[in-house]
Amino acid sequence: MPKRIYTFRQGEAERTADAVAALGLKGANLALLASLEAPVPPGFTIATHAWRETKGAGGDLPQALRADLRSAVEWLESVTGRRFGGDQRPLLLAVRTSAGTQLPGLAESVLDVGLTDRTVDVIAAELSDSDFAYRSYRRFIESYAALVFDADLAEFEDLADREKDRVGWGIEPRNVSEWRMLIARYHDFLERELGAVVPQTPLQQMVEVVQASFASWRSLSAANHRMLHAIPENAGLAITVHAMIFNERNQKSGRGRAVSRDLSTGAKRLTGEFSIGGRIEAFDEPPEPIDLATFVERGAPSFAPVLAELAGHVRRIEAHAGDAVEVDFMVGDGALFLMQYRPARRSAGEAVRVAVELVSDGIIEPQEAILRIDPASLDLLLHPTIDRGGGLTVLARGMGASPGAASGEIAFTSERAQAMAADERPVILVRNETHPEDIHGMHVAEGVLTIRGGTTSHAAVVARGIGKPCVTGAGSLRINAARGVLHAGDRVLKEGDRITIDGSSGEVIAGEVRLIRPSLSGDFATLMGFADGARRMRVRTNAETPHEARAARSFGAEGIGLCRTEHMFFEGDRIQSMREMILASDETGRRRALAKLLPIQRSDFIELFEIMAGLPVTIRLLDPPLHEFLPNSDTEIVETAQKLAVDEAVVRQRIAALEEFNPMLGHRGCRLAISYPEIAEMQARAIFEAAIEAGERAGAAVVPEIMIPLVSLRRELDFLKARIDAVAAKVMEERGRRIDYLVGTMIELPRAIIRADSIAEAADFFSFGTNDLTQTVYGISRDDAANFLSTYVRQGILDRDPFQTIDVEGVGEMIALACEKARRTRPDISVGVCGEQGGDPASIAFFEETGLDYVSCSPFRVPIARLAAAQSAIRLSRAGRGRGRR
Ligand code: PEP
Ligand code: MG
Repeated sequence: MPKRIYTFRQGEAERTADAVAALGLKGANLALLASLEAPVPPGFTIATHAWRETKGAGGDLPQALRADLRSAVEWLESVTGRRFGGDQRPLLLAVRTSAGTQLPGLAESVLDVGLTDRTVDVIAAELSDSDFAYRSYRRFIESYAALVFDADLAEFEDLADREKDRVGWGIEPRNVSEWRMLIARYHDFLERELGAVVPQTPLQQMVEVVQASFASWRSLSAANHRMLHAIPENAGLAITVHAMIFNERNQKSGRGRAVSRDLSTGAKRLTGEFSIGGRIEAFDEPPEPIDLATFVERGAPSFAPVLAELAGHVRRIEAHAGDAVEVDFMVGDGALFLMQYRPARRSAGEAVRVAVELVSDGIIEPQEAILRIDPASLDLLLHPTIDRGGGLTVLARGMGASPGAASGEIAFTSERAQAMAADERPVILVRNETHPEDIHGMHVAEGVLTIRGGTTSHAAVVARGIGKPCVTGAGSLRINAARGVLHAGDRVLKEGDRITIDGSSGEVIAGEVRLIRPSLSGDFATLMGFADGARRMRVRTNAETPHEARAARSFGAEGIGLCRTEHMFFEGDRIQSMREMILASDETGRRRALAKLLPIQRSDFIELFEIMAGLPVTIRLLDPPLHEFLPNSDTEIVETAQKLAVDEAVVRQRIAALEEFNPMLGHRGCRLAISYPEIAEMQARAIFEAAIEAGERAGAAVVPEIMIPLVSLRRELDFLKARIDAVAAKVMEERGRRIDYLVGTMIELPRAIIRADSIAEAADFFSFGTNDLTQTVYGISRDDAANFLSTYVRQGILDRDPFQTIDVEGVGEMIALACEKARRTRPDISVGVCGEQGGDPASIAFFEETGLDYVSCSPFRVPIARLAAAQSAIRLSRAGRGRGRR
């Protein structure tokens, strides 16, 4: 027969294996504090098992439990030297519900159980304070009646008001006889209105409070909460009973909360807050933390010894918990009691600082520090955030598509954004949606806001890549292009008006808001160092501009896993040469245009190789359909025709000819290079020439990695690899130099998965393009997914958006299959992932388990990926599954 009641007092606590399940959070916590020698009020916890018995008995406390309760009270009498209902030194108790998790709808605590019309006077005499004794008794009757009789507290208030007016006292009765009169009114009221009597036998009070508290487990809000969080009804409720602490009694009494560390520096320094002489009130937001010295200076010197004692206990609890802790304490007439502790709440920056400090204090191991930090929270440390101290006017809410906050002037086109930025005006680019030609506008803008699109729209992906804050899908805003204004409800904003966007919360805010700039402190670097020591997978970045590549390196990227060369064709005049190539009517014309692009590409690649200084750089051949490079608007079409000296009709014809029903599944990826090998040849030449030149400058060979997109057939790869090899041979002959290089492929189509063994024979490496792979495995267009995927997630049909977190059961299973097949024919093949999921912690855990060699993600995700990779490696090895390949 499991025990029903577990006692505790400083230095000793009756133990049970699954303490939280048996004793609830409060009960388990007090038992632990007691066993850590902390001064806790003596008491006992009625275990959840007793709740189950009571439920079985139809809600009445069974005799056996009543007997156990009696013995527990007797034990308390003996340790406190007080008697329950005694004529001298009566014992008063606090009765509190203690559930296994925080949950609403449970009974409020009932304090001072044991006060009766008789004991109240004994306490008054003992403390020489009848006001205090009667105040406590009044509160006891109110909370008892509310819990046990379901009385309305407002009725007591009315009653006290009437009594006050009748007798003429102020805030409360002035003497014992006025107090007695008020209490008599309370008794009369209960008897008359509810036919109820507050028992004058303490044990009976206790039985009824316990019974009513048990019943609150089945209250409507508790039941709803349990259903929502899948907490079984039978988990049951525990109740903790302890000797009252008179923490409101005098200037030597109070309550407070202490934190073991200064969370802003991580240093060991007790901080906290306290209150003296007030009523018991919920502590939601703790007031500004203060330190011990200030506390004493502020006029509470009588607390100095208590706080010194508190500091000692808090240190010990911290060492036991291995984490910064927050401790609730009470002081009754100068005596300290600890009531509860929990890990200290903290911001992302504070969490990093504290974890690193705990390691340097020898309290935890680096591995533990790594596991303590939520990788996603690092995002907040790498980007500016909004200072929410002042009032903010939120104009609209969209999706937080790329983290960080930015303020600037509205620009409605990329051209205007560039012009305004050239005048050194900070710009927020506001578009219905962005297209590839908006890239330069995005580059010069502080942030990007789009009315349409989701978190994988063009704006979102590009903004994350270049580390710009971005809000997408702010659907309540409306751009009136004709008038050049933005409607936000009743407001009309025009170009040059200031707005602020928060790419983490998705808010669009009026005006300029103060921003808090990130600072990557030494602690951040230390934590990253721990992570690097613990991880197996490499972390590369998706980058094409020197700016991104440098940022990624400063965040610790170990190479480039994906350089999307198409992004390099939009800047300045390049787009004209690109358009000239697309508009050319034959191969000779195309080669002429490509010759103009060659030196530009070459110098881009040299710069990337130099920034990456010997680290691997994977360059992908042109991927998107050609129409993406052609002009959209009439004005642009006319302009292009003029610049290239071709007929406007030719431009329009070519645009029409390139139009596709389904461009994402159309003439793109390696299919382009097969139709126009000269494009791939130009790119390969630029890569090889750049590698030779960068290698010569650095005095160390550069080994470029050329990646072919959207392969589904082995023969596509063979065809292109032959062309690339031919270019390599030619460049080597021309330059009289040998270079090593790799040719690999993206795996982003289901057929490539199935044929991975054969494809691997022709590929030096695989890189899973999980954006396209998710799109093609699901048959869901990545550009249209936002319209319905959120409904799927809301309806519970999908747990998560598979474009953000890898779908382990489907897409993931295919990745694992491809790895297994590829390693069969080429055991040493290098495998990575470069889709968006490469920077997502949950996906990284799967990639670690699958034994991928690296993940590649946007620069600002690199630290997140480093930490997530370390966590995954640690968890896997702790689970005894070793590192890597499953
Ligand atoms: C992918 O498909 O996952 C990928 C990285 O390529 P892109 O997003 O450029 O299509
Ligand atoms: Mg792709």
